[in-house]
Amino acid sequence: MSTFKAPKGTYDLLPPESAKYLAVREAIAAPLRGSGYGYIETPGFENVELFARGVGESTDIVTKEMYAFETKGGDRLALRPEGTASVLRAALEANLHKAGNLPVKLWYSGSYYRYERPQKGRYRHFSQVGAEAIGAEDPALDAELIILADQAYRSLGLQNFRILLNSLGDKECRPVYREALQNFLRGLDLDEDTLRRAEINPLRVLDDKRESVQKQLGDAPLLRDYLCDACKAYHEEVRELVTAAGVVFEDDPKLVRGLDYYTRTTFEFVHDGLGSQSAVGGGGRYDGLSEMIGGPALPSVGWALGVDRTVLALEAEGVELELPVTTSVFAVPLGDEARRVLFAKVTELRKNGVAADFSYGGKGLKAAMKAANRSGARYALILGERDIEQGLVQLKDLESGEQTAVGLNEIVAELESRLG
Ligand code: ATP
Ligand code: MG
Repeated sequence: MSTFKAPKGTYDLLPPESAKYLAVREAIAAPLRGSGYGYIETPGFENVELFARGVGESTDIVTKEMYAFETKGGDRLALRPEGTASVLRAALEANLHKAGNLPVKLWYSGSYYRYERPQKGRYRHFSQVGAEAIGAEDPALDAELIILADQAYRSLGLQNFRILLNSLGDKECRPVYREALQNFLRGLDLDEDTLRRAEINPLRVLDDKRESVQKQLGDAPLLRDYLCDACKAYHEEVRELVTAAGVVFEDDPKLVRGLDYYTRTTFEFVHDGLGSQSAVGGGGRYDGLSEMIGGPALPSVGWALGVDRTVLALEAEGVELELPVTTSVFAVPLGDEARRVLFAKVTELRKNGVAADFSYGGKGLKAAMKAANRSGARYALILGERDIEQGLVQLKDLESGEQTAVGLNEIVAELESRLG
């Protein structure tokens, strides 16, 4: 143990569990790659104003959870708390949207930082895979993203997740609703903080997790009763396309999300095995965001799925992922000459695509065979002095225990054919 520990609210990914995280990222990325989304990577920090404007001054993310700091040069930066604002900033900066090929479809994967109260499923450093389709107002895009997330979770073997769907309206109908909701909230028995929130961003009061607040919201006006005709038609089309794809969802008229920039389609993926940190992913349409950060009107839609919570969901369901084989062959040299000869064979095996490892540190036979078994390899290659004289190497099947001598010159081909 060193003097240092991982900072509060963070944890290290260590083998063998870390392989699950790679597999989850890969499973979420695969359907995106196959649907025209290109990979984008942006810096881990941005100008703090990008998030203040792009995520919203009144959100928890900006008011409470952001790691903001000033550099020695006087720049005001923040570690990124989410991906959408950065991706849109990068797309605008590179003029991706001017190429005449809208929508620009992008996917990303990386670390995000929020100063939260740490608990299971809620960390200060976590990881997301996300997708954004920028610059088109088309219900088929909203549907595509919901379907692709569903496909990603299903490909991992997840079953007990639900998709919650709602529409938040647009700049025509939301203000009318907002006022009706505000009037309703003003009549409730709420603490000062919540009343203040009701004035700044009343929709977010609907998202309050406290029982004392929730029980007063039973008769709250619902956005769906205020949607304008265009929003209603748009939402209906999204619902039809998702349904036609065989993806099951639940209408959740009270679903709002923590970010200010959502319009129309909004959705969340929740898993019932995760306790209160039940959201494994979420997203929606953000038609106003581009203008909010100084760009042209670019209606867009996207989602972000949490890798950490997806792994917890897999564990909650007892799903065992089929992880790629790490080591197929483990080489055990006995003596200096054997070490040189066998190390060359291992290099050759690796060049031929066979995952191979080697007993380092001059271990004796017994300790080396233990390491071979621990590695999970199917075969051990054992080379002693007499084997070298005879031009042979011992090939041991670690599953059956069977051992055969194979010519040193044939061993690479032999293993390739045995391992298919
Ligand atoms: P919550 O309501 O649980 O705080 P959120 O609405 O803040 O979630 P989003 O901003 O939509 O979450 O982020 C998308 C996904 O990223 C979430 O569904 C979740 O899986 C994951 N996520 C968000 N915050 C954290 C965190 N602090 N630790 C681990 N995963 C997180
Ligand atoms: Mg949150």
